Amino acid sequence: MIDSTELSDFGISTQLSVIGRNPDEQCGFVNPALYKGSTIIHKTLEDLEQRKGRFFYGTAGSPTIANLEDAWTHLTGSAGTVLSPSGLGSISLALLTLSKAGDHILITDSVYFPTRMLCDGLLAKFGIETEYYDPSIGEDIEKLVKPNTTVIFLESPGSGTMEIQNIPALVSVAKKHGIKTILDNTWATPLFFDAHGHGIDISLEAGTKYLGGHSDLLLGLVSANEECWPLLRSTYDAMAMLPGADDCLLALRGMRTLHLRLKEAERKALDLAAWFKKRDEVEKVLHPAFEDCPGHEYWVRDYKGSSGLFSIVLKDGFTRSGLENMVDNMKVFELGYSWGGYDSLITPVNPPTQRKAAPWSHNGFALRIQVGLEELEDLKRDLELGFERLTEEISMTPLQI
Ligand SMILES: *Cc1c(COP(=O)(O)O)cnc(C)c1O
Repeated sequence: MIDSTELSDFGISTQLSVIGRNPDEQCGFVNPALYKGSTIIHKTLEDLEQRKGRFFYGTAGSPTIANLEDAWTHLTGSAGTVLSPSGLGSISLALLTLSKAGDHILITDSVYFPTRMLCDGLLAKFGIETEYYDPSIGEDIEKLVKPNTTVIFLESPGSGTMEIQNIPALVSVAKKHGIKTILDNTWATPLFFDAHGHGIDISLEAGTKYLGGHSDLLLGLVSANEECWPLLRSTYDAMAMLPGADDCLLALRGMRTLHLRLKEAERKALDLAAWFKKRDEVEKVLHPAFEDCPGHEYWVRDYKGSSGLFSIVLKDGFTRSGLENMVDNMKVFELGYSWGGYDSLITPVNPPTQRKAAPWSHNGFALRIQVGLEELEDLKRDLELGFERLTEEISMTPLQI
């Protein structure tokens, strides 16, 4: 059996098949058991008072939760991991760990929309001031640093708009000023971007997406380096917002095939992005592996792969009813939020109203594509017919002279 101390000598797929389980403690069963519960029985008063057992009370951990935490800690190369009942929960946990009343925090303007709501709403209520920065700002972020700046929050690529950030540049400014960095690394996962290896203090993942992989669970994972780990753990302990054990077990199951599903999503998304690039209806393909995508050069330099989510910007001039006719009548692509599952999704990207620091420069409709595990030919056929419905609308409208 592979010992945890030698695990890193093995390839990633071997590591993913070993972490977060220990057959010796599972009566020999391959997979860990499901532990649900509140009370943990202690043998003596001393054990109880001194918290001598491995586990103390349900909110403080269970073998099921510890299995997933330990696996993620290994995968991220971090000092420790805590879990949340959703990706958004993990974002609030990270921000509450590193900010307090009177602080100024810098958030990328390309951030996941609910993160923006959290900062402008709840955090503002507690006296934390948020300033949004251009995702392509790089080392110029130094100009925005104030004496009370405590956090730079990154998300790379940006939600919907897909900008890849110059993470090393932002990290180096942060370190110079004693500012902590948080990265929403959901798109790349630790398999395609090594957040802590690049100096990020706290990295988070919506396990809802690729780790779950089947659209059947909500989960967040937050990992921290040595310096931030005690603080993160104490914030988690103070709130005790933990996921259900069943969802942790599903996430551990997802972990075994994470590399396979990511590689397949990558392959299909690259193929489909190249297909979009040749279409007359499309102005830009915002896929980090393509030059159209802002920050493409940082993706080439820093990332080990790309996943199955990207966006396209349509040429200006299509009508709203044409767009509705296109997306309402798709057969394979479905309309809905979230991503990372086995089914393909298409959703509108609506950045112009939300942006503050880096206005969106495109007039045409933008669509986000989540590529699932269906046949590529079926996906292309679906899109081709969709584009016919999109343009039909225009050719039917008499020319205005
Ligand atoms: C979906 C998503 C989240 C939130 O995850 P939930 O589990 O749905 O709350 C956070 N960040 C990014 C980039 C996401 O796409």
